[in-house]
Formats: sequence, C-alpha cells, structure tokens
Amino acid sequence: MKRRTHHPTRRGQPLQSQPKEYKHKPHPKSLSDTASSAIHRLSVAEALQTLHSTPIGLPQAEATKRLGEFGFNIVERVERESLVLRFLKEFTHLFALVLWLAAGLSFYAEWKEPGGGMATLGFAIIGVVFINGFFSFWQEYRAEQAINALEKLLPHRVKVLRSGTITDEDTSNLVPGDVVHLEEGDSIPADCRVMESFSVRVNNANMTGESQPKARNADPSTDDNILEAHNILLAGTSVVSGHGKALVIATGTHTEFGKIARLTQASRSGISPLQQEINLVTRIVSVIAFGIGIVFFIIGQLIGLPFWANFIFTIGIIVANVPEGLLPTVTLALAMGAQRMAKRNALVRHLPAVEVLGSADVICSDKTGTLTEGRMTAKILFVDGAQYDATPENLRSIGASHRPLMDCAAHCHTLKPNSHVQDLSPQQASASPASALPVFIGDSMEVALAQMAETALENQANPFLPTLDEVPFDTERKRMSTLHQTTNGLKLYCKGAMECVLPLCTHIQTASGVQTLTDSDREISSSAQNTLAENGLRVLALAHRDVQAGYNHGDLETNLVFGGLIGLEDPPRPAVKKAVEQCHTAGIRVIMITGDHPATARAIARDLGIVRGENPLVFTGDELRKLSQTQLQVALNAPDIIFARMGADQKMHVVEALQNKGSIVAVTGDGVNDAPALKRADIGIAMGLSGTDVAREAADMVLLDDNFATIVAAIEEGRAIFANIRKFLTYITCSNVAELVPYLLLVLFRLPLPLTIIQVLAVDLGTDMLPALALGAEKPEPGVMKDPPRSRNEHIMNLPLLLRSYLFLGAMEATIGMMAYFYVLWGSGWHFGTMLTSHDVHYQQATTACLTGIVIAQMINVFLCRSPQESVFSLGFFTNKYIWAGLAIELALILAIDYTPLGNEIFGTRAISAQVWLFCVPFAVGMLLLEEGRKWFVRRRVATIPL
Ligand code: ATP
Repeated sequence: MKRRTHHPTRRGQPLQSQPKEYKHKPHPKSLSDTASSAIHRLSVAEALQTLHSTPIGLPQAEATKRLGEFGFNIVERVERESLVLRFLKEFTHLFALVLWLAAGLSFYAEWKEPGGGMATLGFAIIGVVFINGFFSFWQEYRAEQAINALEKLLPHRVKVLRSGTITDEDTSNLVPGDVVHLEEGDSIPADCRVMESFSVRVNNANMTGESQPKARNADPSTDDNILEAHNILLAGTSVVSGHGKALVIATGTHTEFGKIARLTQASRSGISPLQQEINLVTRIVSVIAFGIGIVFFIIGQLIGLPFWANFIFTIGIIVANVPEGLLPTVTLALAMGAQRMAKRNALVRHLPAVEVLGSADVICSDKTGTLTEGRMTAKILFVDGAQYDATPENLRSIGASHRPLMDCAAHCHTLKPNSHVQDLSPQQASASPASALPVFIGDSMEVALAQMAETALENQANPFLPTLDEVPFDTERKRMSTLHQTTNGLKLYCKGAMECVLPLCTHIQTASGVQTLTDSDREISSSAQNTLAENGLRVLALAHRDVQAGYNHGDLETNLVFGGLIGLEDPPRPAVKKAVEQCHTAGIRVIMITGDHPATARAIARDLGIVRGENPLVFTGDELRKLSQTQLQVALNAPDIIFARMGADQKMHVVEALQNKGSIVAVTGDGVNDAPALKRADIGIAMGLSGTDVAREAADMVLLDDNFATIVAAIEEGRAIFANIRKFLTYITCSNVAELVPYLLLVLFRLPLPLTIIQVLAVDLGTDMLPALALGAEKPEPGVMKDPPRSRNEHIMNLPLLLRSYLFLGAMEATIGMMAYFYVLWGSGWHFGTMLTSHDVHYQQATTACLTGIVIAQMINVFLCRSPQESVFSLGFFTNKYIWAGLAIELALILAIDYTPLGNEIFGTRAISAQVWLFCVPFAVGMLLLEEGRKWFVRRRVATIPL
C-alpha cells in the first residue's frame, strides 16, 4: 500500500488526480469500528493522512472512485408503520365497520330466511368494502409517494472542497476523505472529524438525546468514547452555531446514524384540523345512516311490511347513506393540491398542512430574502460625518482615505474564498473576474460588502487573509468580528447593527487619522443611520482595532475604532406587492417580523403595502420583552404593526399571542432559531434557497424560491382543497337522496321498490366514484381569494351544503329517477297498487330506468357541483379534464349495467329503450337551469343564505 504524500498546491488549482496512489486506501467502516484507529485522538494532519485526503480535499476523480466503492451517502428511511398494517386499517375505519355490520346483518337474514337473496347482498357489501379499502390504500400510498418525491426536490446540499475548489454537492455524493464546510443550521451529512472550528456548537439530540448544544473544535481528544469526543460530528445532528471545516470519516449506513437507522425527521404527532373534521363528518354521517335506517325500519314495521323485506330495506338505506368515497377523495384532494403547490414552488412536507394553509388568517413573514430579493448592493456610505453615493469614483477615493473601513468590508465575513464556483445559485455566488480578491460564496450582504471593497481597493494589493479568530454573528448580538494577521500586525474587524457596534467604539476613523469618538459623533451617526434606514436601506456599521499578540478572546470587541456606515439596498420582490394586496382582499393579515432596523422595516413595509396607515405601530425586540402576553395580545389589535430588531426567540411569542387570539398563523423562517416558531405555528414555512436544514426540517412547507408571493399562491390552493371536499360531499349526498326516496315511497305508498340495494351500490361505488373524485381535483375558483378565511369553527358539512344537496339538487335528482321509473311502469300498463315480482320484465326495466335517470342527473350534477355559486358556463366545461374521464367511465359503466347480460345478471336490470334516456334528458337540463338560476341569485346577493 502506497502512502499518499501531501502535494502543496496553489489555491484554486486542481490537484492532479493520482488514481494509483489512492488505490488501496484503508477505510474505516464506522466510528465505532474505528475506535482502534481512534481518529479523534489524532491531529488534523494525521487524521487526513489515515484517509489519504488533504486539507484541500480529494480530487474529483478520486471522489468518484470512492463513491463507486463505498456507495451513496444515504440512509434508507424506516417505515413508521408496516404496509400490511396500514392496508388492514383501511378495513377497520368507521365507514368500513358500518358496511361490515350491514354485510353481517345480510348473512344473518339469509340464515334466518334462506333463499331471499340476502347472501348475495352480503357478498356485494363485502365486495364494496374491499374495493373501497383497496382504492383508499392505493390513493394513500400514491399520495405518500408523491410527497416523498416532492421531498426529493428539496435541496440536501453540502459545500465540499475538492482539489481546493468548493462545489455545492448533493449530500448523497459525499465520500470518506471529503472535506466539507459546515455552518449554522446545517444538518451534518456524515460522520466527520473537525478540522477547523469557529465557535462550532452542535445539537446531538437526535443521536444522544442530549439537547444542550455542545462545543466542537479541531484539537485531538483523549476521550475514550469517540462518539462524545469534542472533535467528532455525528451524521443526523446539526450545527446550532458557528462554522468550520470537517473531514468526512464515515458515510451512509456506516455512520452511527445509519447503524441505528433512525429517522432524522421526527414525525409530527397529533391530528390536523382536517383530519378532525373528517372524523367528525364520518361520525355524523354514520349516525345519520343508522338513524334513518332505524326510523324506516320502525315505520315499515308499523305499516305492516314483512319483517325480512323490511330488514333488507333498512340495510339498503344504511348502505345508501354511507359516503364510501369520502376518505380516498380527501387524500386525493390533498395530494393533488400538494402537487399543484409544488408546481407553484411551495413544497409541502406534511399532507394535511396543505389544507391548514387554506384557513390561515395571519402570515408572519421575514423581510430579508422573502419580501425583498435578498440581493444586496452597497448604495450609500456615511464616513467621517459625510454621506456619499457608492459610485466607483467615491468608493476609490474612500478606499484611499479610509483604508481600514474597506479592509473591514473585505475581511469581516464568513464567506468562503473559491477559485471556481459551480452549481451555485446567484445568491450564493458572486463572480468577480480579474480581481485580487478571490470569488466568494455565501451571504449576499457580505458578498455585497466584499464587492464594494474590491471596487474601492481596485489597484491596491488586497490579499485574502485567513481568519485567525472570530466572534461569530448571532441574531442576539447582531454583529460579528474577525481577527487577521496583516502586514501592520493583528487587526480585528467588526461589523453589525449600529446600535450593537457603536457602543463598543471609543474612537473614530477620520481622513486625518484616528480620533476620540465624541457624543456629537454618536448623534450624527445615529441620525445618519435613521436617514438611510428611512429610505429602506439596510444599515451596517463597520469598526476595527489593532490587537496585541496574547490577547484575551473575551476582550476582542472593545475599544473599537468606528469606521462608518454602509447603506445596502435590497429591493422588494416585484410580485410581493400584488401578493400582499391579494392577502388583504382575502382577509389575511401580513405581519413583518424582522431583525432589521425599525425604520428600514417601516419603509419596506410601506413600499409593499403591508402597512397602510400613517403611523404603524413598530415594536422592537427590546420593547416586546417588556410586554406581558396579554399586553402583546392587546397590541396585536392594531391594524398596522411591525416587529423589528427581533431577537432569536421572540417570533415564537408573537405566534403564540396570535394563536391565543384565535388566529391560524403561518410563519416564515430560515434560521436555527426560527425552528421553535416554525413548529409552534399552524403552518411553518421554511426557505428552500437561503434557509437552514434545521428550519426546513421543522417546517410544514418549504418555499423553493423563498418568495412571499408563493405563500399566497399556496393559500389559494389550500382554500381550494377545502372547497373541493365540499364539492365532493355535495355531489355524493345528492345521489344519496335520490337513492333514499325510492325506499320512502316504498314504505309510504307501498310501491314496488323503484331502486334495489344492488343498484344503490352500483351508483355509490360504480358510476359516482370517478366523477366525485374528479371534483377533488378542481382548480381554485376565480373568487377563492376574495372571501375572508374560514373560521376555525366552520365545518365542512354545514347547513347551506346540506340544504343545497338534500333539498335542492338531491330532490331534483330523486324526481328525475322517479319520473323515469313511472314513465316505464305506466307505459307497461301498471296501475297504482299493483305489486310486481322482482323477475317481472317491466319491473326490471322500471328500476333500470330509475337507476339510469339518477346516473344521467349525476352526469349533469357533476358540473353543477364544481362551484356553489359560479355558473358552469363561466367556469368552462373543459377546464377539468378528470371530469370528462370520469363521465366517460360513468357512461361505460351504466351502459354495461343496462345492456350486457352480465350487468343485467348482477344488478337485476333489463335493457331499456333510447326513449327512456331521451325522456330523462330534458329533466336533467331543467335541473341545470334551476341550479344556474339559484347561483345567479346567490351571486347577486338576493338570497339571504349563501347556498
Ligand atoms: P430578516 O429577519 O427579515 O431576515 P435580517 O436579515 O435583517 O432580517 P437578522 O439576520 O436577524 O435579520 O439580522 C439582524 C441585524 O444583524 C441586521 O439588520 C444587521 O444589522 C446585522 N447583521 C445581519 N447579518 C450580519 C452579519 N453577517 N454580520 C454582521 N451583522 C449582521
């Protein structure tokens, strides 16, 4: 085995790949297995050597080869519940139990009264349970697969150093020996040995259950337990703060995480409001089905119907009233909604969240990158008491007169210098051709500062100086500092929010040198910051100081020299203004919660129409801390309210206060500290581009484009889903009425039963099924964003829905079915009071006519149910292709039932003439016209109840 020798390379030049040298590298299988080699005890250089890697990473060719050998860095998910168990559950929910009971009663009746055909009915009902169960399972499985497929669209990327070049790789491509950059909020993608750490702290809760963050650094460890060593990062855990470089030592199933094969993503517990609602509907409908069945049974007994005949009818009534397709439709509606949202860049991670979004009445949104583009440019500089536009000439002259200011901008950051930038989004990468500075990758604000410095220092040597020490940024401190060895000794550069930097300054940089900072300097700077912020600019203060060797880390940020202020422009996203307007029309409140300065927040909020009044209430984090929860709730009554300079945990308080007020709250977030608020919110929304892994895993939805307007599009889809489930329920309850009336007439007028139980099932589980499902796939109606959000207490099945479906559409359908029945029966010479046997040809034709009449009515009704108030003509007949597919199958089924020997045999039908069909058509058209009339009235607000 050859040992790889270290070849020093110039930064940015790829290493020559040396396949032979890497051929037989030793590879530790997992951390526990490496305990003997004890990589944590070695120095960084030794650790690199054991994996034949280098500080600038592996060459690409070697990485590819290792990928072939060690496989992808993937850990298969462990199913929460076995497929078999989930399949069985489809046969034990309440609807299924009702049907099982009905089947049991049928067999019981057959046993008591053999030869009455009850066994056939029992088998038919069991068939129904099975068809429904299989279908629901398939729907759910597909929906889950769809969500998994969507999840794959989520970026799981990591910055890998290969031959000195940072590439943005899919985490599955990591191999042992890779050198990765990790920063706050990153999920650790593989087991790693720390090589460089700037205040890295990790949360190992996923692995060890220990929720206190632990510091990690690059020093060799003497710990016996490698898993607890302070230089080891475990796959599946996350970086809570700081940033650093690490060497991958085990990947995929060889990681400790892979070995215990636990899910990184804790599954959400509890049931969503929609699930609760569906459970409620299921219970109500089952009670109604049984209730009506029992009432009819009692009436039948009272008027002297034969016991077993009466018993059969009762079962028929129960079966007719159970909306068998409800559960698969709900799943389908959610899954289709999730897919449509994905097309609009909103990735749903938990299916029920799709619908919750539709009821959101408040969106708490970040500013930077969500409402604004997150693309920053330095616009104005405030230096030495004067304000300058950031033109190249001004920058160059300030670069000459205030060199430390520009050195600070050039060095005080966590950007990663790179020689080539591959596969990076524009926000992550900045190309700076022909410059002394390297190309940088990272935060757009820091990139903007580095670019500004580059222009300012154009012709002056300005080498990239490595960071020797760092006091990292966090949202509480709102500043950061870095330490560098310059030709003039050790220099500390600091940047951050002015109120967090200026108090640390004792001096000020002027053209004539460093001078003592006076109160008047502070006041002037403060008013300059206000002026810049009021123009919507993000203001950053820059400072610096000389540091002596042997310094104390804790004293680094003291006695600073104030360099000046930079006003950065981050333009509002073009689509946001309209989206905010849509929110207002839709009764959704938008609240900005930002870490930025109050004046900047107010200017941007005003620009985007988020606040409309003259004097919006602006709360800062400090002010919020002084409020009790009750006071905050009262404050939230203000029509225009903005939260600025908010600390890490404060978003959560606002969310809680809003929820206490009864709101359904959607919250955006991108940082580690946003995770609790994202979890607490009714719907947590993380950023796909700029967000951290931790935030994404806490969220219900991820915005692939980080754009606020996408949330509004997703709300529209969420609202459509609730509406679609209602459309479906309206549709199926209509046919339930048409199925019920024949039994009513049988009991009340002693008519030959116009629709047999098997025929009821033919409608419920045959002809109705696909058109009903097609309604679950309706696109949002045009006016869906004009109504206020639905209240928390609004049920899917409400009075208007029941009135419309039972007393209006259902009644008309029942009429059509019965008219067709009598048309055939009277045509055959039947007289009222004559009873017919079930084998009588005319009776069979009459029931076939009744069945066909109901199906024809349902064919028209599916168009009517597409909207409770919009005209079918304005919606367009061809805007939902699934309806046409459903209708084609519905027609094929009813033709097969009516005209094939097998259909006749199973359903007790008999071929009917074309005249019967023609007879039904005008009635169906009449139904359409009457419903159009009702809708017209509703639209004109003539009706008092918005049916
Ligand atoms: P939002 O919460 O809307 O995304 P934000 O990005 O301004 O807004 P934070 O990231 O919490 O919110 O930043 C708060 C403040 O901290 C900023 O306004 C800025 O003054 C300062 N700041 C932000 N990033 C840095 C950084 N990398 N270095 C130093 N200071 C920073």
